[in-house]
Amino acid sequence: VSFFSARVCVIGSGLIGGSLALALKKAGAVGEVVGCGRNTATLQRALELGIVDHYSTDIAQAVQGADMVVLSVPMLAMREVLAQLEPVLQPGMIVTDVGSAKQSVIADAQAVLGDKLGQFVPAHPIAGTEKSGPDAAFAELFAQRRVIVTPLAENSEADVARVVAMWQCVGAVVECMSAAHHDHVLAATSHLPHLLAFTLVDSLARMDESREVFRYAAGGFRDFTRIAASDPTMWRDIALANAFEIKQVLKRYQVELEALQRDLESKDAQALFDRFSRAQAAREGLKF
Ligand code: NAP
Repeated sequence: VSFFSARVCVIGSGLIGGSLALALKKAGAVGEVVGCGRNTATLQRALELGIVDHYSTDIAQAVQGADMVVLSVPMLAMREVLAQLEPVLQPGMIVTDVGSAKQSVIADAQAVLGDKLGQFVPAHPIAGTEKSGPDAAFAELFAQRRVIVTPLAENSEADVARVVAMWQCVGAVVECMSAAHHDHVLAATSHLPHLLAFTLVDSLARMDESREVFRYAAGGFRDFTRIAASDPTMWRDIALANAFEIKQVLKRYQVELEALQRDLESKDAQALFDRFSRAQAAREGLKF
């Protein structure tokens, strides 16, 4: 795979943007990385960690001379950042993002980019941890992980190919699909589990005997709830950005929970065993 950019601008140099910057540097695929964000303290930290080589809180300044601009801010900040980007976007610059839901950021781009919409190639790396900020970034985050690109009809083939090549050169396996399909699938495989983990921990934490419950927290609790340590701003934004799809899959899950409740009430050993067996077989068939 050949990808090289003399200057990449990363807007939001936290876990994902920071890891991409480090990975591009490690692959020798970038001349320099310019950081951009709201807080000087975060950007200064990214500079100290070698994630960015320069930074500016001013978008116009930060994107100067960059041919690839990566948006790695929380979902609800995307529209504002795209709006600030529009007047300074030069021909030949590609804008891409890493947002966890795709239809909402595409709607944002459609609302503010005007006839520059074709320069925006939406993407989502299916990789992350429950940590955030530049200190959590590491170069190997995307190795062997999937990245989904959801091209727009307005994109040129060359721009899509360049975004694909960028992710391939940091070790990712790239697939293209529609934004609607992406949001439908990710609601089930990522968004629902995160919201369930947050809700379970919150529900137990508010029980009167919560101290007692958490003192005896076992491996199952730890495995199921690790992701509840994730950033609440990021997940609030994802929940809202993909609310429609999440509500559908949540509804289906609620039906299953009601069935479970009934099986417990009627002490239906066979139904419980069948449910757990089906899940065990499905889980064993998965490769991570
Ligand atoms: P993060 O570590 O918190 O980084 C977010 C960055 O955005 C920070 O540098 C923050 O810097 C900056 N920022 C926040 N609000 C901003 C605003 N309004 N304007 C400009 N900059 C702003 O978060 P992350 O985990 O990298 O997530 C970034 C994006 O990646 C999100 O859209 C998320 O959905 C997506 N994503 C996350 C994961 C994951 O597992 N974490 C996986 C795939 C995709 P300041 O100090 O300036 O606020």
